[in-house]
Amino acid sequence: MSLIIKTFECRSDNYGFLIHDEATGECACVDAPDAAPIIAELDKAGWRLTHVLITHHHDDHTAGIADLKRKYGCTIYGPTQEVGKINGLDELVDHNHTLDLGETRFEVIETPGHTLGHISYFDPASKSLFCGDALFSLGCGRMFEGTPEPMWEGLKRLRALPDDTMVYCGHEYTLANARFALFIDPDNEALRARTEEARAQRDAGQPTIPFNLGDDKKANPFLRADDPGLVERMGMQGAEPFEVFAAIRKAKDNF
Ligand code: ZN
Ligand code: FE
Repeated sequence: MSLIIKTFECRSDNYGFLIHDEATGECACVDAPDAAPIIAELDKAGWRLTHVLITHHHDDHTAGIADLKRKYGCTIYGPTQEVGKINGLDELVDHNHTLDLGETRFEVIETPGHTLGHISYFDPASKSLFCGDALFSLGCGRMFEGTPEPMWEGLKRLRALPDDTMVYCGHEYTLANARFALFIDPDNEALRARTEEARAQRDAGQPTIPFNLGDDKKANPFLRADDPGLVERMGMQGAEPFEVFAAIRKAKDNF
């Protein structure tokens, strides 16, 4: 029942992930930024791709689907709500449904806002979350589709996962996110500590991904839109948390 997860770079700042279920040999990649680096990692590990788990329709998460499908005949899973926007989906998955990779059972969580149908995949046994561009270390995806309230609700679903969850997100944006987070929340000790850790990781040529969800809950302003101290800093006492979230998102867009 154990799982091996590999993280590797794709394109300019995307991450690719391979998930290997040891018991059965089944293997998934999360999103398909580019087929070539995914194939190279599979060859290196000696694994055969059986599943592709798509989080959302953007090209930097789907461009490799056709080539992977041609090479491996793998099954492509993706969000029902984006079926018209993603070519090559075989199986549609929805919020609260599960998806099996060998002995590993992923829960599908809807996390809209970056795109309307964006979904995340969580394995409760290993406490691994694959969240595409919904949540980043110290940040979240830009809100391209929809409205702040459902996006905030989606982030709260991720925040409700256990503190010892490891988060595998789609991009290496941590240090840029830290600059903004420190700008709006400069006295946050957890944020400063995480920033130092991330800086050391990058200086050493290491990815900052995966990251610990419990640390991020204390440091990421987008997970703290209902924190009284941050609300006060934003001058938004009495506002709904999703309104505070919207203001933080807007401030980041203009930062
Ligand atoms: Zn995206
Ligand atoms: Fe992306």
